[in-house]
Amino acid sequence: MISAAQRRVAVICAAVACILILVGSAAASPAVNAKVAELNTKGVEHYRAKQWDAAIAAFREAYRLDPDRAAISANLSNALQAKADVLYEASDVASAAAHLEEAIRITPDAPRLHLHLGACYLRMDRVADAIRHIEEAVEREPGVPEAHDLLGQAYYRDGDAASALAQWEWVIEVKPDRPGLAERIEKARREADVEATYNRRDSRHFRVSYAPGTSYSDMRRALTILERAYTEVGRRFGGVYPPGPIQVRVYTADDFSRVTLLGEHVGALYDGAIRLPLSDRTGQVLDEAELKRRLYHEYTHVVVRHIVGDDVPWWLNEGLAETVSTELMPPDVERLEQAYRSDAAFSIAELQEHQLLRLPPESLQIAYLQAHAAVRHLHARYGQTRLNQFLTALGNGTAHDAALRQAYRRTYAQLDDELRKQYAPGRRRR
Ligand SMILES: [Zn+2]
Repeated sequence: MISAAQRRVAVICAAVACILILVGSAAASPAVNAKVAELNTKGVEHYRAKQWDAAIAAFREAYRLDPDRAAISANLSNALQAKADVLYEASDVASAAAHLEEAIRITPDAPRLHLHLGACYLRMDRVADAIRHIEEAVEREPGVPEAHDLLGQAYYRDGDAASALAQWEWVIEVKPDRPGLAERIEKARREADVEATYNRRDSRHFRVSYAPGTSYSDMRRALTILERAYTEVGRRFGGVYPPGPIQVRVYTADDFSRVTLLGEHVGALYDGAIRLPLSDRTGQVLDEAELKRRLYHEYTHVVVRHIVGDDVPWWLNEGLAETVSTELMPPDVERLEQAYRSDAAFSIAELQEHQLLRLPPESLQIAYLQAHAAVRHLHARYGQTRLNQFLTALGNGTAHDAALRQAYRRTYAQLDDELRKQYAPGRRRR
């Protein structure tokens, strides 16, 4: 059960200062014209000094006095966009979106605003809203590769690989070197091939595509577990409920490997969609307990990503998913003790990155157990609230080690020492 990190969508369009010369409006009195001009001059000064809030305040007041003047609208819109860029960079995506929404109300025809707002909504998992605004941007200004790429990403997140491919295949013709695009196209093609004959079923928060031949009762079982996970896991993380529909693919064992190119030791994964085979290669359907374990594990990734975004340490993401979905059993503890005693254990810092997927199954298993043990340790000692604070700090863009220090007053090395003490007492750091 593996979560591949998706690249963070970064569409930051630098706002261009559009400072126009003011011509007195015929409709307004000379006193109002003078006041508007004064506010605008003040706003421009703040804007040049990159004091976005002060610039916005001045332009807003000028706009309130005279909403019909194009120069004031443009200046206010630019200041709002500049502030939105700063907020987006600082991972405060919801506030960035609020600034862009205001800018669009004032200057609704600017395609870049719609594109930028679409990127924010995509990051907030508001996929339908993202599509609406990115489509608007593309309609108003077609032929911008970044916009078509982002539109493809939004379609893909919406479970529509065919429409995503149409956008991406155009982009790769004009920008063959666009990072990661060729891989995304290849993956989407595999999915489109395998899933062409799949059926669809929706529940309140999930949209499931499933292999033909999947029984009605198996599907109902999976959806009931998912809806329960939505409530329970969301509550556990302090009331986190991502807007739906959350994409789910239910495969046969063969289709799962064809789409993911992963071996049988991988039981499910989340890469923006929850993907799992409902049966093994012999056609044996997963029993209730195993199905629940896998779906709770993957759904935890959905929640973690909604809080943090894509830059979440691997060990934390997997450790949380394991802690929510299963227990550390005595054989697991034995395995951990053995790993720590024989120096086969990783340092937790080594388990931050997401390239672990390709480890041999044996090492991957140790990595999962360590991730589970580390999160369990933090959870047992400091509780869920502190874990939520850790996630929030990461979501605000704090670096992994700084967030760990902030939430737990610990370095990675100290966390390693504590785990080693638990599982191999008396053994020194390697
Ligand atoms: Zn996982």
